[in-house]
Amino acid sequence: MSLHNLDYWRSRAAVLRFDGNAFIDGDYAAAADGATFPSVSPIDGRKLADVAACGAADVDRAVAAARDAFDSRVWSGLAPRERKQRLLRLAALIEQHAEELALIEALDMGKPVRDALHFDVPETARCYAWYGEALDKRYDEIAPTGDGVLATITREPLGVVAAVVPWNFPLMMAAWKVAPALAVGNSVVLKPAEQSSLSSLRLAALAHEAGIPPGVFNVVPGLGAVTGQALGLHPNVDCIAFTGSTATGKRFMRYSADSNLKRVWLECGGKSPHIVFDDCPDLDRAALVAAQAIFVNQGEVCIAGSRLYVQEGIYDAFMDKLVEHARAMAPGDPLDPDAPIGAIVDERQMESVLRCVETGVREGATLRTGGRRVRIASGGYYIEPTVFDCASQDLSIVREEIFGPVLAVQCFSTEDQAIRFANDSIYGLGAGLWTRSIGRAHRLARRLRAGLVWVNCYADGDITVPFGGFKQSGFGRDKSLHALDKYSDLKTTWTDLRD
Ligand code: NAD
Repeated sequence: MSLHNLDYWRSRAAVLRFDGNAFIDGDYAAAADGATFPSVSPIDGRKLADVAACGAADVDRAVAAARDAFDSRVWSGLAPRERKQRLLRLAALIEQHAEELALIEALDMGKPVRDALHFDVPETARCYAWYGEALDKRYDEIAPTGDGVLATITREPLGVVAAVVPWNFPLMMAAWKVAPALAVGNSVVLKPAEQSSLSSLRLAALAHEAGIPPGVFNVVPGLGAVTGQALGLHPNVDCIAFTGSTATGKRFMRYSADSNLKRVWLECGGKSPHIVFDDCPDLDRAALVAAQAIFVNQGEVCIAGSRLYVQEGIYDAFMDKLVEHARAMAPGDPLDPDAPIGAIVDERQMESVLRCVETGVREGATLRTGGRRVRIASGGYYIEPTVFDCASQDLSIVREEIFGPVLAVQCFSTEDQAIRFANDSIYGLGAGLWTRSIGRAHRLARRLRAGLVWVNCYADGDITVPFGGFKQSGFGRDKSLHALDKYSDLKTTWTDLRD
């Protein structure tokens, strides 16, 4: 696929038009009270569109449409092979519109268009295709009861699933929930993050074109505390599939308890440790991967390797290489295919990251590189890749999720100390380790309290493997066949076979 150049993407961006309306019951519509909020591009601070700020009335309408569609069995009642065909059609349409969707992601949330085109969009298409392919290959069960009885154990869709997602991989985070939920036969109401609603709204039209019936897939953009909360408390929503911060995840647990005990699945924050032992098989590669693990997508990655632990024998040499890579990853215009990283999603997030940098310095960490806002004249929000030497686990920058391009590095001496440091966190999402020893790799993979462990690589994976965390990183898993179980309930049907 061609990457084109900056001028190509700029000229496409100049003529791109956005629909900021909600998508409810098969049609775009303004919020009932006409309220909107501006969608601002972090590339240059310019407004892209006014987006519908959905309130309780709009959420009611979307949930009612989803419920009616579910009750009518227009989707769940289709033969599985037919649902499959439509999900495959949606995947094909996403691929056909790859450039447009990648451009929307870059403009709306500031990621490099190259990454959106080569990662976010194809991964999103693969996700819909994979769950489409999977759905007509799963069988239900018959219990081993013996003669006289037939007991079946079947899986049934939950009904109305609300997916509430963050802004860092807008299309992909939505796909990880929407695709398995639709595959099982549910209706879905998607609430994108207010920073990045535009690609989900475009996706709605593609889903419609692919033959997903009206009401089965709805998109309600809006503010978290309004639209998100209305979904969380809604008595007619059967399940919340959430990705976002741990603080908001906790709110959804409360919303559920205060309403209808809807199922809640949480993919939350992380502060993932990345450990490099002195028997690392390839120090150069490990240093490059350690830099990518934190700086790709401007560090706005839930599994970012934001705590790096390097063994004392290689510490100085490793740090020199790492700092070099960090400097080479300076942010550029997201529409420039050569930009290693892009813009921070919005001004508020940029200020939050810069405050964390200040705190790091104040608490005594040594700033090795970065730490400043750059490209200020662009009007956008850019921060240099930042590396700190840290002498203690107690520093805020070692303990708290920053969700920006800031890496906290510490030295360790023994295997036990590395594990102690790594597991010393309220989070447990990802963890990486580099070692030549097979024994150590397996031993430590077992001891790391994380839902994802990488050995001699970082953040690798595909749709076939589960994704999610231990501890306050949440529960339930996105991706793989396991995700299908989150969107269905088990039913036992016990039939007495005597006449
Ligand atoms: P966030 O929690 O602020 O927002 C996530 C979603 O929740 C958004 O749609 C938002 O509008 C909504 N929301 C916010 N406040 C709400 C409220 N009071 N009630 C109901 N809904 C509300 O998170 P964010 O800033 O968009 O995303 C960053 C966070 O997401 C980070 O913590 C990151 O680690 C996490 N994340 C986790 C994963 C994972 O798979 N574990 C993946 C990506 C991002």
